Amino acid sequence: MNPLTLKAVTKRFNAACAVDHVDLSVPDGKLVCFLGPSGCGKTTLLRMIAGLEMPSAGNITFGGRDITHTPANRRDFGMVFQALALFPHMTVAQNIAYPLRLRKTGAAEQARRVTELLEMIQLPYMRDRPVTQLSGGQRQRVAIARAIASSPKLLLLDEPLSALDAKLREAMQVEIRLLQQRLGITTIMVTHDQREAMTMADEIVVMEKGRIAQVGKPLDIYRDPVSEFVADFIGLGNILPVSHDGQGQVTLPGGQRVAVANAASTGSQSGDIRLLIRPEDIHLKTFADGVGPNRLAGKITFIRDVGATLEATIDCAGFTLTAATTPRETPGLALGMPVLAELPAQACKLIAARAAH
Ligand code: ATP
Repeated sequence: MNPLTLKAVTKRFNAACAVDHVDLSVPDGKLVCFLGPSGCGKTTLLRMIAGLEMPSAGNITFGGRDITHTPANRRDFGMVFQALALFPHMTVAQNIAYPLRLRKTGAAEQARRVTELLEMIQLPYMRDRPVTQLSGGQRQRVAIARAIASSPKLLLLDEPLSALDAKLREAMQVEIRLLQQRLGITTIMVTHDQREAMTMADEIVVMEKGRIAQVGKPLDIYRDPVSEFVADFIGLGNILPVSHDGQGQVTLPGGQRVAVANAASTGSQSGDIRLLIRPEDIHLKTFADGVGPNRLAGKITFIRDVGATLEATIDCAGFTLTAATTPRETPGLALGMPVLAELPAQACKLIAARAAH
């Protein structure tokens, strides 16, 4: 069952179209991320789902009921926004109990629920502390506890981790994801951070200029992007302009030819074509391994060795490639070293070029 459905949802601000005919179904109990660059309409779409913004056209249904014009406070959704808006003059417990007070929940039930939520966010001993005396991560957890206090059917998160430093942010991604899975609460989260979306989401909705560019499971989108925009936005990728002979081979900017597994199926594709290969799919070889098909001669021009992973930039005369490996897997790489970059045909994918602006 899909509890939330959007049909042709559109939002215009004067002449500008922030969200343009979005159709979407959000599966029950899943975490869905809206992902895209700044200004692509993620927040506007989330705010329409929340009831904080009215669509210019289209409709939104939840649990089979049309809620397009239902005010935010009657949707019973939990929300955590960028600016957390915890009440600074209240304690942790008072903040968490706030939505319960609004609903006139009895005092005993409020206390029971607050205790349960404090256990859940692992802050039981912080009950009576003013929220101003919490760390950023603790505040974040309190904001989430408050958002789920009244057992909302849908949890909406707008860049809830953007104010945190990188390490805490990664830890909170895991915490929120585990909590969401344990509670089975349908959740929509806005982020512009593709790594965050890949870590947390069951499904990613990639947005571009107010429209949905692609919807899918994180790895499916990573492995099988529908366009240059999506390929570029999700993960690191080598994206090269190529010409295509329709016979399973493409010609690279330096004149080299490589076989591509999906070349035949894109044979009739018109317009500009790009070759996508992810850095971890490129195998680095030496000339002692022998030249061969799909092995491109090049020279290492940069190495980023951070211990666990190693990225090498390779100048292939006409274009550069980034290959990802580990120092253990390919020891002895050095700047200026001639190498052969092997691009397995199965890992090469042809995609349509981004439309010119
Ligand atoms: P960011 O990641 O920067 O928050 P976003 O993808 O969430 O961006 P939105 O905030 O939804 O993008 O904005 C989409 C577009 O609509 C932008 O061009 C923005 O300037 C415009 N916009 C958003 N809110 C309003 C408003 N209240 N009035 C006029 N234009 C708006």
